[in-house]
Amino acid sequence: MTDATGPVSARRMRTRELLLGVLAEHDTVSRAELSRLTGLSRSAVGAGVAALLAEGLATEGAGSPAAAGRGRRAGLVSLRPAAGVVVGIDFGHAHITAAVATAAGEILAERTDELDVDGRPNDALDSAAGLVHQALEDAGQRLELVLGIAAGIPGPLDVRTQVVRAPTILSDWVGLDPADELGRRLGHPVSVGNDADMGARGERAFGAGRGLDDFLYIKASHGIGAGIVLAGRTYRGSTGIAGEIGHTQLPGATSWCRCGSRGCLETVVSITEVRRQLTHVLKTGAGDVSTVLPPLAELAPNSAAARVVTDAGRTIGRVLADLVNCLNPAAIVLGGELGTAGAPLVAGVRESVDRYAQPASAQAVSVRSGLLGQRAELLGAMATAAAVRAGGAAG
Ligand SMILES: [Zn+2]
Repeated sequence: MTDATGPVSARRMRTRELLLGVLAEHDTVSRAELSRLTGLSRSAVGAGVAALLAEGLATEGAGSPAAAGRGRRAGLVSLRPAAGVVVGIDFGHAHITAAVATAAGEILAERTDELDVDGRPNDALDSAAGLVHQALEDAGQRLELVLGIAAGIPGPLDVRTQVVRAPTILSDWVGLDPADELGRRLGHPVSVGNDADMGARGERAFGAGRGLDDFLYIKASHGIGAGIVLAGRTYRGSTGIAGEIGHTQLPGATSWCRCGSRGCLETVVSITEVRRQLTHVLKTGAGDVSTVLPPLAELAPNSAAARVVTDAGRTIGRVLADLVNCLNPAAIVLGGELGTAGAPLVAGVRESVDRYAQPASAQAVSVRSGLLGQRAELLGAMATAAAVRAGGAAG
């Protein structure tokens, strides 16, 4: 919003954003609730709703049967199902996925591309824009009807400038402003956040973090990052780098890490390292020389392979125990590719938390697998996009 649009227009845009944000989160809302939930006056809600009805973005009627059952009848406002769509983009280290969904989270179309995201940022950004256009076309939607677009990237953003900072983690992206780059390519504002933060938002909106205001989401894949949710908000720290638990030093570990230090957590339990250990165990234990590993979710309980995963869980849990002492979370939600292993990983993390965290904090924390698997980050971007706070990162 520039000054040229004037304060009246700016206020209207803000009203529109607030109303769309609330409508995206609730199926059907009365005008009184809209006023309460947005903090806007009744007259501002009236004018804003009239504008949304005129734009064809909202409808007004008797509402859903559930709402009617609670005694609400007339004046209920909802998003027109075909009108408001959101776009989520998930940048992994070696893939990009873009999906189009209704504001309620129902995915209408999805496109994926595989490429070296870490090493080729401009190609990755070009590809993401192309995937968004393709997914919109697949869904029969137009960019003008998109309520919000959000993306998660596998590295830290400076919260003050939205620029990728930490040179040791996503070095080829340093100095880039992904929100600006994507926004220019798409001709639509894009909200960008760290992938673990997006995963936390996804699990909180649709999965294992529902109803939780204080929890840790752990994305354990090629790197290990934490999305930290405190008092209902994603915590990013003073400059946006909070949650880089993969670079915690492990006593006795000596391998060089991509960050330039030795003995970081992710040199011991990244998915690459766990796969290497599994290949070794599966070959020697079962005499199976197949180089194709079974999906982690299908490892037999108590098998040698499951024990490798449990051991990885113990190592991650040792680091998480200190965080449990500091932050007293209600849950640890395990996500990323390693998180798909489920019970064997949970068991290892649980064991270390019980052993190394203070008993009161350990008893307070539930350790669980994510429910969204490797789609948590994409769905978190969807939830962020539905919040229609274009231009800002995930809150
Ligand atoms: Zn490191």
